[in-house]
Amino acid sequence: MSEVFKNYIDGKWLPAQAGQVIENRNPANRNDLVGLFPASDQGDVDTAVAAAKKAFASWRLVPAPKRGELLYRVGELLKTHKEEIARIMTREMGKVLKETRGDVQEGIDTAFYVAGEGRRLFGETTPSELPDKFAMSVRAPVGVCALITPWNFPMAIPTWKMFPALICGNTVVLKPAEDTPYTAVKLFEILQRAGVPPGVVNLVQGRGEEVGVALVRHPDVHLVSFTGSAVVGREVAAACGQSLKRVALELGGKNAQIVMEDADLGLAVEGALWGAFGTTGQRCTATSRLILHHDIKTEFIDRLVARIEKIKIGDGLDESVEIGPLINQAARDKVQSYMEIGRREGARVLIGGSAYDIGACANGFFFEPTILDRVTPNMRVAQEEIFGPVLSVIEVPDFDAAIAVLNGTRYGLSSSIYTADVNRAFRAMRDIEAGITYINGPTIGAEVHLPFGGVKDTGNGHREAGTTVYDIFSEWKSIYVDYSGRLQKAQIDNAE
Ligand code: NAD
Repeated sequence: MSEVFKNYIDGKWLPAQAGQVIENRNPANRNDLVGLFPASDQGDVDTAVAAAKKAFASWRLVPAPKRGELLYRVGELLKTHKEEIARIMTREMGKVLKETRGDVQEGIDTAFYVAGEGRRLFGETTPSELPDKFAMSVRAPVGVCALITPWNFPMAIPTWKMFPALICGNTVVLKPAEDTPYTAVKLFEILQRAGVPPGVVNLVQGRGEEVGVALVRHPDVHLVSFTGSAVVGREVAAACGQSLKRVALELGGKNAQIVMEDADLGLAVEGALWGAFGTTGQRCTATSRLILHHDIKTEFIDRLVARIEKIKIGDGLDESVEIGPLINQAARDKVQSYMEIGRREGARVLIGGSAYDIGACANGFFFEPTILDRVTPNMRVAQEEIFGPVLSVIEVPDFDAAIAVLNGTRYGLSSSIYTADVNRAFRAMRDIEAGITYINGPTIGAEVHLPFGGVKDTGNGHREAGTTVYDIFSEWKSIYVDYSGRLQKAQIDNAE
């Protein structure tokens, strides 16, 4: 019998009220049933939101340094269980162990970083324009926050949202992706063990169309923090617009790495490999376009292909494997469909291009690391997010053309340029339209204490992580204290 898991609502582990479950299978081996998880519905969402609403009344009054101490305990417990959670994560979503350990580490880093914020959460004081009057601004919590997350960073993304929300005094309901419910259960076991009070954190598992929609529309949810596809992000934003709910969106990318003719090619090849094929290309910051200067293109591609030929594909639990499977059948079908789309538009498959089903891989959703050559900037394979191990190569004559091609998509998340010319590097930092730019590094590798997010269709202007995340999860309140003992009128009493 496979294990049956539950939601976590108001400090209790509860099955979905309607008794339905969703199967969670290992994408490296679909015969491996990881477990059965609640297929929740409106009733479960109502119960969780009511619990979060009730808990908010007392949680908002807990001093922020005390909330920070709790998060510190959560960080310590995540450290203790890092290896166990990484193995569960690899089994349920496929990325290799080295990367799932990194994913848990991101949660640990966030816990410690945010715990310290409990003793800051600085506001401002400023002189009043009137005598005997004091002026300041403070951060106030927003209320009940719905956190809706994707499967590709099952620990990092929920914790990026939850810990800042909690330190600001909010309560939360998390709806993780259908493909990664188990990692969320492990996180909530730790939150429970750390002593987070009942109702402050709630977990409702289930489908986006059911649980996600119910959360977004719930009148007692004050804020929605969503990370996922642009298609769903637009729906979420539209629903929040109708009810004037605060909404922060972190959506897709079509990130590019530029390699100029003066670059260290060995370094740039390693960067492209890691950027394009890490997490099997399923990162919002993955390198999916490679913009190569004409003079080095042939040599660069030769070196890249030689490295790709040596990559080991397989089950991420095997430490020697470098690329795991795609998340599910639909993802593999989508990646496969882009091979045909690319060919029809004139691109050429240089290496890869097919599902990989040799030996034990026949039971999983594996796909070969792929390079598409002869891509031009407006082809669909250069414009649309494929979300798989596919790198589209675009040749350019000079620096200005490289920047124009990089900027020529509707997304603007991450970007990278390899060059030895400091002047070009600074022009790139200034002119690239993206939320993140790496100089002589790949498009992936964000750290938790810097703002994370993108421009254009990658989001709606918010930045997670860094110090900017607190602007998502708090309201600014301006406070005036008049100790003059008389009515003073701003803009009037002190006017000339
Ligand atoms: P998705 O949009 O399909 O799902 C994301 C979450 O939304 C899931 O929990 C899903 O159940 C839920 N959902 C689905 N339909 C919903 C609806 N109608 N209302 C409310 N919730 C709904 O995305 P995915 O396939 O899980 O993730 C991949 C996408 O996420 C890619 O586009 C990737 O670029 C993006 N992503 C962005 C970032 C970032 O920080 N910018 C980070 C990781 C992933």
